[in-house]
Amino acid sequence: MAHSCCNHSPQAKKHTHKFKIALWIALVLNLSLFFIEVLGGAHTGSSALWADALDFAGDSFNYILSLIALGLTAYWRSQVALFKGLMMFVFALIIVGKVIWSYSQNIPPEALTMGLIGVLALVANIISAIVLYTFREGDANMRSVWLCSRNDAIGNIAVMIAALGVFGTNSVLPDLIVALVMAVLGLSSGLQIIKHAKQEQKA
Ligand SMILES: [Zn+2]
Repeated sequence: MAHSCCNHSPQAKKHTHKFKIALWIALVLNLSLFFIEVLGGAHTGSSALWADALDFAGDSFNYILSLIALGLTAYWRSQVALFKGLMMFVFALIIVGKVIWSYSQNIPPEALTMGLIGVLALVANIISAIVLYTFREGDANMRSVWLCSRNDAIGNIAVMIAALGVFGTNSVLPDLIVALVMAVLGLSSGLQIIKHAKQEQKA
């Protein structure tokens, strides 16, 4: 899920070596799962997998920013945030389009592969959380890491429940309902990021 807790702007202070390694690990995991879910969503016909990929995209973006944004001025940080908000908004719109298209096609996704990718996504999110927790810096925002991971896990579990629902009913609907809820959350969080970035530019 693309929730606001994952959208905090990167701190503009120097990271310790260990925390940088943790960020790299989290980045590789999140980016890998983004591609796996996008390809898996196309392969299985699951919209919920695409919707779950939205969060991996947003989180990857945050880790990249956290790794490179140290030297950026406040203006450029808000420009980057604006780009991220727009990107997430457009991606969420594409998912809404896919939901409508899938509804018209009415072909249930491959539930088994879909569920397995959901499990893989949950494992990746748990490993990211443990790594970031273990190598957290000083007063690093623990609550934010925890809330973010918890919401990500809820998204992954929603995908698994959707897969189970598709498996049990042989209907496309469980997949579409989960995808639509996540896409709407993505639209609203994309808008929030855009609004916040614009406010920062005015300040
Ligand atoms: Zn997240």
